Amino acid sequence: MKKILVANRGEIAMRILKTAKRMGINTVAVYSTIDRNAPHVKYADEAIHIGDNPSNKSYLLGSHIIKEAMKLGVDAIHPGYGFLSENAGFADDVAKNNMIFIGPDSTSIKMMGDKLAAKDAVKDYNIPMVPGTDHAVSDMDKARELAMKIGYPILIKAAAGGGGKGMRIVDKQENLDAQLERAVSEALSAFGDGSVFIEKYISSPRHIEFQILADMHGNVLHLYERECSIQRRHQKVIEEAPSSVLSPELRAKMGDAAIKVAKSCKYTGAGTVEFLVDDSLNFYFLEMNTRLQVEHPVTEFITGLDLVEQQINIARGEKLLLKQSDLKIKGHALELRVYAEDSFHDFLPNVGRLEAYKIPEGKNIRVDDGYEQGMEIPIFYDPLISKLITYGKTRSEAIHRMIEAIDQYLIEGVQTTLPFGKFVCQHEAFQQGNFDTHFVQKYFRADQLKADLEDEAEVAALLALKLYSKDQNIVRVPN
Ligand code: ADP
Repeated sequence: MKKILVANRGEIAMRILKTAKRMGINTVAVYSTIDRNAPHVKYADEAIHIGDNPSNKSYLLGSHIIKEAMKLGVDAIHPGYGFLSENAGFADDVAKNNMIFIGPDSTSIKMMGDKLAAKDAVKDYNIPMVPGTDHAVSDMDKARELAMKIGYPILIKAAAGGGGKGMRIVDKQENLDAQLERAVSEALSAFGDGSVFIEKYISSPRHIEFQILADMHGNVLHLYERECSIQRRHQKVIEEAPSSVLSPELRAKMGDAAIKVAKSCKYTGAGTVEFLVDDSLNFYFLEMNTRLQVEHPVTEFITGLDLVEQQINIARGEKLLLKQSDLKIKGHALELRVYAEDSFHDFLPNVGRLEAYKIPEGKNIRVDDGYEQGMEIPIFYDPLISKLITYGKTRSEAIHRMIEAIDQYLIEGVQTTLPFGKFVCQHEAFQQGNFDTHFVQKYFRADQLKADLEDEAEVAALLALKLYSKDQNIVRVPN
């Protein structure tokens, strides 16, 4: 593998390019018009403009990207996450054009991309699943009967859903018909597939996922878990590894289940098997993501491995050099997704220009970003500015490092999730490891955070004034 094209942008494009460069592989970036001066464009050895700003006119144009890659003699394409990463047709087309798709083959992508097909694939492997239907429901009478059997509250989910979208909680029978109808039409318009199914709604779940590595020679490993329960709109904001609630026995059991899921679809590459864990520590298979996850750096910290390097080695046909028994969890890592979002107003995107931008630096702090001071955060893409990752020998050390790093991180011009991250890290329930996916609804009060920040600003202003007057005194004394 001599030349890799990264079919992505922002922090993940930078992340992949860095490892490829370190491995002595030539790199090609792609960019839309608005991204022409982005760091990933400047960092890569070559860069090609692939189209206009909307992603369906640039980063989603699979065949156009493949054509450009061939012109430049590229021999492998890394899709990152999002965009084309879970597009089975794209993975196939890359292979058909004699290039390597750095990811699993299209059959695994297809199977795991559909939540119902995924449930079907794993059903012979004795893996616990959330009670629910294993087929699409459209018939109202059947749906009513099934929901009664499962017991309310239930969750209606789109088979083709993703990114926390296409889910509806139904708390009682009278609401079922209307919600089901709405779910089908939403799924159809958002994913082009109206198939929905019903699952038991687990009332206080934790989201715990396992990182998998599988080579083409039948070796499959798990690299332990990531706890991703701090979410808003069913989407993750803070992740950590390891989880504070898994005993070594439960970890081994879930790790085994995750390996079985990977084997059920003959998976190759890096992937993630997601589970829900209820308050009695029962676990249930949720879905498998067939790509590198946003939150992979916390796993890198606790295992000392570079997951992009592992992906590249696997794609080159190399055997995994590690055995499960070689792996050991070392320390604790935490990740905050720094989104251009207004935490005070329901986490709405808050795009604009980065008037001031300075990242925190120091031991055990890692920032994966794709922006520089003065750049615009475009409205066309996911508003993720960066990922702030901290590490410590213990969970408490990682949390305190995160608080320090947030305080040092300077971002002006857009609202971000930094204050929200500090709120979570300082919260007693989070510090005690006592939380579930409802942390935000349960504990987060935007007005309280705002008041705290205003108090902090007032104290800072008073302090500045005091220092200023003192300074004036000093200056005045000689006169
Ligand atoms: P997506 O593919 O859209 O990310 P997932 O199936 O991975 O959807 O679920 C995303 C989140 O939604 C989970 O982390 C969890 O917070 C919530 N969720 C999903 N299924 C259930 C369930 N059966 N009960 C309770 N919460 C659920």
